[in-house]
Amino acid sequence: MVYYDFMLSERENKIKEQVRKFVKEKIDPGLLKKMDRDEVQFPTEFLTAVAEENLLGLRFPKKWGGQGMGWTAEIAALEEIGPLGLALGCQYSMPSIVGEAFDKFGTEEQKEKYLKPTLEARLFSAEALTEPRGGSNFFGATTKATKDGDDYLLTGQKRFVIGAEGADYFLVYARTGDSSTSPKDAITLFVVEKDMGVETKYLYNLLGCRGGGAGRLIFNKVRVPKENIIGSEGEGGRIFYQMMIPERMTSAAGVLGLARAALDVAGIYSAKRKQFGKHIREWQGVSFKIAESQMLLDASRAITYMAAKAIDSGQSGGTCRRLVSEAKRFATEKGWDIVNHAMQVCGGIGYTQIYPIERMLRDMRLSFIWTGTSEIMNLIIQHEYYKDLFEKMKSESLRDSEADAMDSGESDEKVFTAEDQRLD
Ligand SMILES: Cc1cc2nc3c(=O)[nH]c(=O)nc-3n(C[C@H](O)[C@H](O)[C@H](O)COP(=O)(O)OP(=O)(O)OC[C@H]3O[C@@H](n4cnc5c(N)ncnc54)[C@H](O)[C@@H]3O)c2cc1C
Repeated sequence: MVYYDFMLSERENKIKEQVRKFVKEKIDPGLLKKMDRDEVQFPTEFLTAVAEENLLGLRFPKKWGGQGMGWTAEIAALEEIGPLGLALGCQYSMPSIVGEAFDKFGTEEQKEKYLKPTLEARLFSAEALTEPRGGSNFFGATTKATKDGDDYLLTGQKRFVIGAEGADYFLVYARTGDSSTSPKDAITLFVVEKDMGVETKYLYNLLGCRGGGAGRLIFNKVRVPKENIIGSEGEGGRIFYQMMIPERMTSAAGVLGLARAALDVAGIYSAKRKQFGKHIREWQGVSFKIAESQMLLDASRAITYMAAKAIDSGQSGGTCRRLVSEAKRFATEKGWDIVNHAMQVCGGIGYTQIYPIERMLRDMRLSFIWTGTSEIMNLIIQHEYYKDLFEKMKSESLRDSEADAMDSGESDEKVFTAEDQRLD
């Protein structure tokens, strides 16, 4: 039982408790250490263990191995995975991310061939959007897919792909349109199996999030059958918009657990450590950092649940995009503040590998870069805000708050442009 159980149904609570128990009892801290030392390049044993508990892709129909639940269940589960760090959180999330494409846009054959074995951890998956030329501008993709009979030949590169080493297949966005095609319709999503000839070129030495097989993929005329298109040719842009929901929701939810774990380590430390004759938690300078962190964690959880409930209740389009972007940006940036406070509370020992906070800090820093940077989240949030505002202005549903100002009638003072500046 936890204090926010009231936000979850009985079934959602049961899942959350199952994941919590699984993480506590079945995950050997040795795995995290080996991953952080790059001794494990891809954590297959973790995925196999989660799949044995039937905990992957909770949102998807039972027929494909899911549990037919909603986002609320999934984020509650992910918060429990979160203390294991970003690399394992990402592995837990990947079937949910790639599964979204199969579930929403895939054929029955694709679900049978890829979704089902992915949720059973018989196949390992990855998503390849980012290119060396850039990740923020999705529609600038240069990886090309040219038609060759019934197949397509893919040529190009993707980088920073988690699972570049270890995944059996990749969801790859490639350009199928030419310069006359509108950017929105120029990209197609393919399922590309590693064995079709994908080369993993380079594994990165990462600051954190190690052990997930992050690398660069090279496609040199990789032959992909047309049956491996998800949706239809040119539909990649539309699918991408949908895929940003699981990408960003999982990022937001995973860091809740990581931040919570850091706060708990710091809280316990502050209750044991003494300075100037008192436990340090009795010094306001320390306990107020704990207070700040607890509040930020609750606010992050609240905004993430709000986004989850919005999707579960059928919201889609701009409102959904805005709420998900807000949750992603807020939870990741505040997660960083929480881990930072935790390090400060622990003092020097927090900066060593005696405690896990330095690893959490290294992990957390990635969370507001990947799956869309904070700046890109802001682009979406302001775009959707103004769209809504202009709609409200048109519908005249806005109360005129300007009229509440004492001198609101002074229209000569309401100058917005040079043309408004009248001299008469
Ligand atoms: C460890 C790791 C794992 C990753 N895993 C994956 C993965 O599995 N699959 C995958 O496809 N990608 C993955 N990524 C890529 C990640 O999503 C991108 O790094 C991210 O989207 C940013 O792209 P970029 O690095 O090319 O930076 P750029 O797009 O070049 O951006 C550089 C900077 O400019 C800012 N910027 C760009 N455009 C604007 C704008 N219009 N307004 C304001 N600021 C802007 C950005 O916010 C950023 O601060 C991973 C990255 C890392 C580091």
